[in-house]
This record gives sequence, structure tokens and C-alpha cells, in this order.
Amino acid sequence: MSTPSGPTAPPAPAAAPAPAPARRLRRWWWRSGALAVGLVAGAAVVAGIVEHLAWVETVAAYDADIARVTDEAETARARAEAAYAASLRSLDEAIDDGRSVYDASEDQVADPAVREPLVAALADAEELRATEVTYPVTTTRTVESVTRPNPLRRETLPEVSVEVMGGSEPAPGGLDAEAAGVAEVTDTVAAARRQWALVELRAATVEGRDARADLRGQVGARALGTLEEAVADAEAILDGGADAVDPDVAVPLRDTLFDTTHALWSARLAEIHDERRAAARAAGVDCRVDRCVALTFDDGPVEDTRRLLRILAAKDAPATFFLVGDNAAKRPDIVRAVADGGHLLANHSWAHPQLTTLDDADVRDELRRTQDAIAEATGFTPFLLRPPYGDVDGRVRSLATRTGLDVVLWSVDTEDWSARDAEETRRRVRAQVAPGSNVLMHDIHPSTVDAVPKIIDDLRAEGYVLVTADLLTDR
Ligand SMILES: [Zn+2]
Repeated sequence: MSTPSGPTAPPAPAAAPAPAPARRLRRWWWRSGALAVGLVAGAAVVAGIVEHLAWVETVAAYDADIARVTDEAETARARAEAAYAASLRSLDEAIDDGRSVYDASEDQVADPAVREPLVAALADAEELRATEVTYPVTTTRTVESVTRPNPLRRETLPEVSVEVMGGSEPAPGGLDAEAAGVAEVTDTVAAARRQWALVELRAATVEGRDARADLRGQVGARALGTLEEAVADAEAILDGGADAVDPDVAVPLRDTLFDTTHALWSARLAEIHDERRAAARAAGVDCRVDRCVALTFDDGPVEDTRRLLRILAAKDAPATFFLVGDNAAKRPDIVRAVADGGHLLANHSWAHPQLTTLDDADVRDELRRTQDAIAEATGFTPFLLRPPYGDVDGRVRSLATRTGLDVVLWSVDTEDWSARDAEETRRRVRAQVAPGSNVLMHDIHPSTVDAVPKIIDDLRAEGYVLVTADLLTDR
């Protein structure tokens, strides 16, 4: 403050009296103290807020950790179950597939070395499939406990542990490996089945083609059309090679070819018999009323067959010759002489084997080669087959029919091959003969040829009529 007047100047009228210094000091302290308290309180509030925010953050992180490990545990279980279920399904499919291929291959794949590994693989796989599954715990996840440092509001959140499944026992990988193993051996068997089906279909197609050629012009066009269609279908499949063959298609088609060929030949053979019986009746022979007997000669032709032909010609007696194809091919002139004599030429196989011991292809070969040899020599194709030794079964019969041959056995066995005695052979015929008899002899034995004139005389004296073997029965 400034004072314009001197020392005598009266004190400024409005000025308040100056406070006493002690009072001023007290006020200053009070102010400082209040300020300090205020500052401390403010700091405390700020610290409190900071601590609270930090704690909220810690709790949030703690909760998040718990959520994460819990989720991990639950996901791990679900994932393990899903992985096991998926692999189990694959294994199931492999087993079903393997089982069906195995069953289907039963009569198709003969080689046990091909099928046995599949049996073993299926057994292992089925055992694994039946194993009860478990989901073992492999790890434990832990969320550490946290403690709030605030001395006024101490608080501890506890440690939390969860168990995590590591997968399944058995493991999906093990199931997958087992399924792959089954699939591999299944493929091997399936490939063998395809190969088998190919061979089967090929054989049936060859039969179908031969029947088509043999029967053209002899059966109705519509009936032949069914066969032609099946042959064409089969040829289309065969053109694709083994890998293109689906046994489930090829096998029914093979059956269709066999059935159609069988039916066509069966009908044709019935027709041939009817025609020949009608011709015989026109010539005055009817085995429904006549005492018919057929003399049959197997295993030729041989040189001595010519002597037999002269005897038969002299007696005007028809006979039936079941020729061995190999012999017929060597002596076509004698085969022709048999045909020229008015006798019936018939098939006795190519090399005289037991036909039931041969596979289909070999049986067919035996029959067809003989048909061809006789047809080549004479222009006549036989329609009767006498299997060597009378050895025949359903399979051989069916093969014979599909080759255009009816099987004929015998009813009187002279066993001329064991007696080799003309009188004994004659005696045996006389002892066994009856109306409808089919008498088995062999023109390869001279003693049999010697017996024939007397046998014929004996039979005629008994009122028998000599006929070819096809006329005896109604088939
Ligand atoms: Zn024989």
C-alpha cells in the first residue's frame, strides 16, 4: 500500500485493522492442513479407483481363463467321440464290404490263398470293433488362484483345474489302419471274383455263339433273338476287359446265356426226336407198341467195324454207334460207311475220359471236337451222347444239352469186354433183354462182332424189332 501523506497523516479511514500475526499463522496452518488432507484423500480415492479397475481386470482374465479351459475340456471330449465314431463307421463299412465280397466269392474264387487273408482280416477287424471304447484323460489344465492385494478388501479366487481327454482307446488311427487292411484284401478277392466272372461269361458267350450258329434256321427267329441279345450284351461287357466286369451283372448274364442256350437246344432236341419217331412210324415201327430193342456199339470205329457193318447190312439190322472222336477223326471213311449203312452216329467223347472229373471247358471240348469230327466225315451232327463208363452228373448233362446232345445210357450190359466170348455175350443178351432194352456192346472186340449175327437172330425169333437208340424212349 502507498501512503501519500506524511507521518502525521491520519490512518486510512477504510482500512481494517491488520490481523494479529498468531491468528494469521493459525489460518495458514489450517489452510495447509486442509490442503494436505484434501490431497491425501484425493490420492486415496485415485489409488482406490486404480486398484478396483485392476482387480476387475484380473477377475475378468481369471474368468476368461476358466471359460477357456472348460471349453477346451468339453471340446476335447466331443472331438474324441466324433473322431472315434467316424473311424468306427469306416471300419463297419470295410467289414460289411469285405463280408459281402467274401460270401459272394464262396463258389467263385476257388483259391484258398486268396480268400484266407480276408477271413483273417475280418476276424481282427471284428474283434477291434467289439472292443469297448474309453476316453482316457491325458492332461490337466489349471487356472492359478488370484489374490486381491487390497488390505481393506482382501479377496482370493481359488485355483481351478479341469481334466482334458486326449482321444479314445482304441484310437481312431488304429481303426482306420484296420479298415484299410480289410479293404486291401477285399480288393484282392474282388479282383479274383471279377477274373472268375470274366472267364465264366466268356465260356457262356462261346456256347451262346456256337448255339446261335448251330441253331440258325432250325429254331424260330424270335427264340434265337433272345439268345442273340444275350450274346451281344455279353460281348459288350467282355470287350471292356476284366476290370470292366461287374460280377453282379456278369453272373446273371452268364446264367441267362446258359438258360437260353439250354432251352433252345432242349426244344430243338425234342423236335429231332419227334421227327425221327414220326419217320419211324411212317416206316412201320412204333416203339409204343412194338417190342423194340437197340443194339449199340461203343468205342469205335476200328477196322473191324467194317466187318460188323457187313453183318448188319446182311441182316438189314439198324444199330447205333457211339464213336470215340479221336478214332472217328483217324478213320473218317469208316464213319462214312456207318452213316451210309443207315445206322445212327452218336457221340462217346473225344478221348474216353470220365467226364465228371473234367472242368466245364474240357467237357465241352470233348463233346464238340467229336461232333465236329463226325460232322466233317459225314455231314451229320450227332444228337446223342453216351458218357464213357456211364459217368454223368447234372453238370455234364447240362453241358451236353447245351452242346446239342441228349444223354443215353443203357439197360443191358453184356460186359463183352470182360468175357471176350461170343457165346457168353449172346447168352447175356438173351438173359437180360426186354422190350425197350438198350444193349451195350463194343465193336472193338472181335468176339462181340462174332456174336452179333446170332444175337440178331435170337431177338427176331422172340419178336423183337431192332431200332436205333433214339427211338426207344420218350426222352
Ligand atoms: Zn466206352
